[in-house]
Amino acid sequence: MTQPLHHNLQDTLLECHDGCAATAPGHSLPLIQERLATATPGKWADAVVVEVSAAGWIEVAVLTDDTTQVLWNHADLTGSVGVGDPVAVHSVYDVLAVGGAKYNVLRVDSL
Ligand SMILES: [Zn+2]
Repeated sequence: MTQPLHHNLQDTLLECHDGCAATAPGHSLPLIQERLATATPGKWADAVVVEVSAAGWIEVAVLTDDTTQVLWNHADLTGSVGVGDPVAVHSVYDVLAVGGAKYNVLRVDSL
């Protein structure tokens, strides 16, 4: 019997470094996740970055439903994402698109 994958915040917000190969939410973007997100273009929501921190937290205001979402990625994205930047968030596969770059994000709006 295989053990089900268990992702809670404690497991997910683990410390990692450059070259991290983990594919848990918020870590490296698996190719399949990127493909699924690309294959479902209707699920992207336009958003604007409200806050970004070196610890990987990114807060975005989603324009389509007027909500705020808090996302987390293992990398410090302050060099590539700035407050006021237009981004897109995939509502099903939790991918953040910034220009041509895509990131696997952990959505923590349930905190
Ligand atoms: Zn990582």
